[in-house]
Amino acid sequence: MTKLSGRKILLMTDFDGTIAAYRKDPRKVSLAKDMVAILQKFTRQPNLKLAVVSGRGLQDLEKMVNIRGIILAGCFGGVFRDEQGKVHTWEKAPDYFGPVEELAEFFSRSPVFKGVYIEKKEIALTLHYKDLGVKKRREVLKVIEEAREKNPIFNFHVGDKGTEIIPQGLGKGWFIQEMLKKYPDFYPVFLGNDWVDLEGIEVLRGQGLAFYVGDTPPPGSHGLSGLKEVKKLFKKLLAVNQAALNAS
Ligand SMILES: [Mg+2]
Repeated sequence: MTKLSGRKILLMTDFDGTIAAYRKDPRKVSLAKDMVAILQKFTRQPNLKLAVVSGRGLQDLEKMVNIRGIILAGCFGGVFRDEQGKVHTWEKAPDYFGPVEELAEFFSRSPVFKGVYIEKKEIALTLHYKDLGVKKRREVLKVIEEAREKNPIFNFHVGDKGTEIIPQGLGKGWFIQEMLKKYPDFYPVFLGNDWVDLEGIEVLRGQGLAFYVGDTPPPGSHGLSGLKEVKKLFKKLLAVNQAALNAS
C-alpha cells in the first residue's frame, strides 16, 4: 500500500467472481449494494480511475454495472466504453461481428443445444451447459468440436461447465495495455479470479500491482480470499487516496 500513497491510481477489475458473487445462472448475477457504493466513490475522487473488464459482452456489462464515469470493457476487453461514453474496439473486432452471428446461429439450430444457454456477445460467445446430464453434454461437445474445426479464427476453451469462444489473439492484456497508454501517469492495479485474468497479471509485472481472488494466486499476484477482502482493499485504496488529497 505504501507504493500507492500519493499516487494517481488506475484500478482495473474483473467482474464475475471478483466484484460480484457467482450465481448458478450468470444472468442473475448482480453487484451488492455496498459494492455499488464503493465503486461510486471511485468515480468521485479525481486521482482515481476505475475500469471493469469482463468476459461478458459490453451491453450485458453495462446493465450489470450501471454507474456513470466507469470505464467498461466487455468481450475480454475487445470492446470498451471510455469515461466519456465513447466505444472503442480492438483493431480486429470488425472481422468477428459476422462470424459470431453465424456461430450463434449454427449452435441454436442444433437440436442437441436445447437446454444450452448461448451467450452471444459483440465478438465472442459463451456456451453454458453445466446443468446438462453426461450423455447430453457429450452430444453438445461433439457439435462444439465440429464448429471448432470449421472456425480456426477463434480459440475454443472447452470446459465441463461451459465453453468460451474467443477471437484468436484477444485477451484482457490488450485492453490493459490500452489503458496504460491512455493513463501513463496513473499507477495500475488489476484484480481477477480466473484463467482469463492471468494475462492481465502478466502485463502488470514490474509496473503495477495485481491481485488474485482465490486460493492459489499465480506468480506476480497477491491473494485475496473473497469478496470481503476485495471490498477491504477498495476501501483502503479510497482512504489512501483521500489522505493524499487532504495533505496536498
Ligand atoms: Mg471472473
